[in-house]
Amino acid sequence: MSSSSEPQTHLVLENYIGGKFVPCRDHIDSHDPSTGLVYCRVPDSGEEEVEAAVAAAKEAFPDWSNRSPEQRKTVVFARTVDIPRSAHNLRFFASSLLHQTNDSTQMDHMGCLNYTIRCPVGVAGLISPWNLPLYLLTWKIAPAVAAGNTVVAKPSEMTSVTAWMMCKLMKEAGVPPGVINMVFGSGSRAGDALVGHPDVPLVSFTGSTATAQRITERSAPHCKKLSLELGGKNPALVFADADLDQCVATTVRSSFSNQGEICLCTSRIYVERSVYSEFLDKFVAAARKWKTGAPSDPGNCNGVRSFVALARSEGATVHCGEGVDRLELPERNAGGYFLPATVLTGVADASRVMQEEIFGPVVCVSPFDTEEEAVARGNGVRYGLAAVVWSRDVGKVHRVARRIQAGM
Ligand code: NAP
Repeated sequence: MSSSSEPQTHLVLENYIGGKFVPCRDHIDSHDPSTGLVYCRVPDSGEEEVEAAVAAAKEAFPDWSNRSPEQRKTVVFARTVDIPRSAHNLRFFASSLLHQTNDSTQMDHMGCLNYTIRCPVGVAGLISPWNLPLYLLTWKIAPAVAAGNTVVAKPSEMTSVTAWMMCKLMKEAGVPPGVINMVFGSGSRAGDALVGHPDVPLVSFTGSTATAQRITERSAPHCKKLSLELGGKNPALVFADADLDQCVATTVRSSFSNQGEICLCTSRIYVERSVYSEFLDKFVAAARKWKTGAPSDPGNCNGVRSFVALARSEGATVHCGEGVDRLELPERNAGGYFLPATVLTGVADASRVMQEEIFGPVVCVSPFDTEEEAVARGNGVRYGLAAVVWSRDVGKVHRVARRIQAGM
């Protein structure tokens, strides 16, 4: 942490509150993971800054929530944001709100008609992670403001710059002051103050399970509405009759895209024993071709380092990647946090590597013998975010998919 009186050699971000950029007394250094060097300073917001942002959002709420859905559309700034999915999020929620239908139940014997209406709740507290920063942040902002809520958002301190740039676009696009506020800082200070604020009745959070538990505890005394999107330890079940070439090509992407730092990434691959060796050979060869290096080089797919020491300590065989393949990096990236696509075998299902979300380019491959076993092992974690079933047998695909406990 550093004081703002020091010479400003880096980009210094400001909070966005009530339509104004407001400087913060203290800052946190933000590091470029590809070089390990500080590249900007992010406000270290606390209760005072959160208080100001919630007050601005509260003040903006009556007017914003009374506008018609058409008047709340914010596509103008979405068009200028250079990330298609972020623009898509805003367009999608702006238009989906125009086509909502509500349920009603008729109770003729009592002469009653019950119907449901959807109302904005008030000030929504939005907390997003770093791995797809603008996409996940807009995925929260767009539905909240489209429904008539005003928001105070706290992006991950590690990826605050794009959110800060988006505030500039929102100001330029004429989003009314106070409707969208951005408070930068750490989760333990700014995030915690936002979650615990009595005037924030709704919290939407995307991030890790451990943080979600803390947020749930903090909100419980206030009975807040909570939306939690958490981690995954996603299995792929590969049956012997799958098209292996297609399966390998797709599974390499689903495992290592964005350095494996997507909540939906495949991290456990169970392969029917009769094709296990063939799959493993092809998969390791394809993983080796997954290039790791400077993120500015468009030929590279992997950027940021995670950890694999845990796997080694649990007795894994490392087929490629960390400690096996040498990483050629440009000199300026020598201090960066890099890890090549890493494939492990020989880890027990109960081991930490198989049970915990590593959130990096690390995948475990293991053989199975029966459909029953594949389902049981696929379900054998406390996560249930996503899963994939590979087979040419449509009946089997549907049967197995139904038994897999995963949201997607
Ligand atoms: P994280 O450590 O839980 O942090 C997520 C956000 O919560 C950050 O903005 C963080 O701030 C903030 N935070 C931390 N402690 C807090 C507290 N006590 N009170 C309030 N806010 C707090 O998660 P992450 O490492 O950034 O993200 C990776 C995780 O997100 C993985 O588990 C991944 O699977 C999951 N994820 C899930 C989805 C999904 O849709 N299901 C999508 C993407 C990612 P700081 O960063 O400033 O500490």
